[in-house]
This record gives sequence, structure tokens and C-alpha cells, in this order.
Amino acid sequence: MNFQLDEDQIAFRDLAREFLEKEAVPHRAEWDRKESIDTAILPKMGNLGFFGMGIPEEYGGIEGDQITYCIGMEELGRADSSLRGVVSVSNGLVARSILLHGTEEQKHQWLPGLTAGTQIGCFGLTEPGTGSDAGALTTRARRDGDDFVIDGAKVFITNGTWADVCLLFARTGGPGPKGITAFLVPTDSPGFVATTIHGKLGLRGQATSELSLSGVRVPASAVLGEEGRGFSIAMSSLDKGRISVAAGCVGIVQACLEASVAYAGEREQFGRPLATFQLVQDMIAEMSVDADAARMLTWRAADLVEHHLPYGTAASKAKYFASEAAVRAGNHAIQVFGGYGYIDEYPVQKFLRDARVMTLYEGTSQIQKLLIGRAETGVSAFI
Ligand code: FAD
Repeated sequence: MNFQLDEDQIAFRDLAREFLEKEAVPHRAEWDRKESIDTAILPKMGNLGFFGMGIPEEYGGIEGDQITYCIGMEELGRADSSLRGVVSVSNGLVARSILLHGTEEQKHQWLPGLTAGTQIGCFGLTEPGTGSDAGALTTRARRDGDDFVIDGAKVFITNGTWADVCLLFARTGGPGPKGITAFLVPTDSPGFVATTIHGKLGLRGQATSELSLSGVRVPASAVLGEEGRGFSIAMSSLDKGRISVAAGCVGIVQACLEASVAYAGEREQFGRPLATFQLVQDMIAEMSVDADAARMLTWRAADLVEHHLPYGTAASKAKYFASEAAVRAGNHAIQVFGGYGYIDEYPVQKFLRDARVMTLYEGTSQIQKLLIGRAETGVSAFI
């Protein structure tokens, strides 16, 4: 594993940071307050390659190795986790699943728009009754001639109300994971209704939605991969998605650290800058170590993907550690800022609110520990 970034990686990081400092950082507080990013930024991000990471040029992507992907996600997390979530889902979970499992027709139909950021994807797995136990989902797709007709409901779907295509998981067979099939469902299909969920603690700039599917008809050509392979497609997407979440969390820790160092250098109490107090340095040191440790675990998992080696457990470790570290860093940063950290004139309260969900989605911290525990002991403690 190479600990030094190469010239291309550094150039991408610098370009991403410059763009986000100009186009996202000045607006993130306002987006947070009004519960929506300005979606006009998305095609601009497409031009820069954010939505094309890991996708071949013939489909409009910019290719790029896994570490470059982590760098992009870290910069997005450092700037605004809502934006990071939009990219992670549309590029990481949807476009990459199409690339990996799709037919040529599906790739040509969806990838150019998704990589340009002119079209957005959402990932419809979670249901009101099935979250961690996603293999028990009940949305049903029944065969009707050459079509499938889908009925059911999804909840907490990132990008749901903005999306053009939903990678939707529905039951075509019997109970359990083997009865699940993945579909690419255009969101303008009759019977597909997305409603925004308001009042979230964090990630307020991104749309999180409920989906209602009532008699949604799609042709058999909308099946992604083979019938009955949907759950394994979902799980392999989420394994990689966890690396993306982890990288975004590294960005949150880094942002907390940078904001705290700057504030502690300026703010004086007892006639001295806060940075001179040992107990303040203790919190800064904690954030600094967490940033490095989380980044190393994340790059380690990315490096395994890059080398086509098993990476699932490494991704769980990175996601677990980095998401908990982001919550710790958000708390520390608020403490360093004192009362000012508690109001939205400063960004640190947003970092904490955004970080909190990272320990919940794409597998909670408990689920990551069960995956790591299963890998270590050979015993599944899920049930
Ligand atoms: P539950 O599964 O009900 O879990 C509740 C608690 O029980 C947790 O602490 C959990 O760790 C614990 N628990 C559950 N099972 C076990 C067990 N076996 N052992 C020990 N503890 C256990 N889903 C999508 O499909 N697509 C998306 O784009 C998406 N985006 C999201 C965005 C946001 C902002 C949020 C909040 C959620 C999103 N989700 C999405 C859903 C997310 O993945 C689920 O919320 C998550 O998987 C947890 O499921 P649940 O909320 O039903 O909690």
C-alpha cells in the first residue's frame, strides 16, 4: 500500500477542494436551513468528474482508482456531507452496480446521464418493516407476461424525490435473500410516488424519501443481473458503499480538526489563545489521531478493492471506525468552540448532526461489529 499520493491524485484533490470551497462551503449552512442543496450544483459536479469516478470513459466516466475515489469522497465530506451522500448513492451504489451487473443496453441507457450529474440515481432497499434485516423485505414484483408489476413501500431513500432511476429491490421468489431481484425502475413510471421526509437531525440538504410503489410496471429488461440475485447485488454494492461512507467521515473528522485548530488559535480566554491550554490540545490531538487512523483504514479497504482482494471485512472496519470517529470529532469540535459551537453561525454543530447518521445507514455500527465478529470467529450472531 502506497502512503504517498501520486500527481494525478493530488491534482484531483486540489481541484475538488477548490471547487467545493467556492461552490459548496459558502452555501452549506443555507442549504441545511432550507433543507435542500441547490441542485444546479450537480451537473457542475458532473463536469468535474465527481459522478463519473470509477466509470469507464465510454460511458462518460473518468475512470480513476479506488484511492482517488476515497479522496473525492473525503473532500465532499469535508465540505458538505449532504452532497457527499448524493454522489455516493448515485455514483457509488447505482451507477457502479449498473456497470458491474448491467447489460450493454442498460449501461448505455443510464450511465451517461448518471456520470454527467444530469440524472440522479437512488437505491431502494430499506422498507418500513425491514432495515438491518434487509433480506426479509416484502416489496413484491410479480411476473405479468413480458413485464413485472411491482407493489410495496420503501423508506429513508436518499435522493428518492430527485432521482431519475431507482435501483429497487423486490421479491420475485420465496422468503429469504434468494427470493430478491434487483430492478432499474424509471421514477416517472406510473404508480411510483416519492415523498420527502422532513425534520432530519442532519444531512438536511439532501432528499431522503419514502417511496410508494403501486402497480409499477417494468419490462423484464429492467431486471439488473439475474432474477434472484438481487440481495447479493445489494450486499456487494453496500460493501463498497461503506468505503465511500468511511471516506466521507474522514472528511468530517478533518473538517472538525481544521475548524478547531483555527478557532483555538484565534479565541482567547484568560488572556491566552485556547490553543495554549493542554485540555484543548487533548481534544485536538484526539481528532488528529482519529483522522489519520480512519483514513488509513479507509485506504486499506480501498487498496484491497483495487487489487481485487476480499475487502468486505476491511470495509466494515473502516466504516465502523470512521463513522464513530466522526461523531467523536463533532463532539470535540463543539467543545472547543464552546457556546459558539452550538449555533449554526459556525459549521461544527452541522458536522456533528451530519456525522450522527453515518453510524446508522449502510449497516449500523452494531451490524458492522457483527460482520467483523463473524469474520473473526466464523460464527454468525445475526439471528
Ligand atoms: P433497525 O434495523 O430497526 O435497527 C434498530 C437498532 O437495532 C439499531 O441500533 C441496530 O443496530 C439494532 N439491531 C438490529 N438488528 C440487530 C442485530 N441482529 N443485532 C444487534 N443489533 C441489531 N436505505 C436505503 O435502502 N437506501 C438509502 O438510500 C438509504 N438512505 C438513508 C438515509 C438516511 C438519512 C437514513 C436515516 C437512512 C437511510 N437508509 C437507506 C436506511 C438505513 O440503511 C437504515 O436506517 C439502517 O439500515 C437501519 O435500519 P432501521 O433504521 O430499520 O433500524
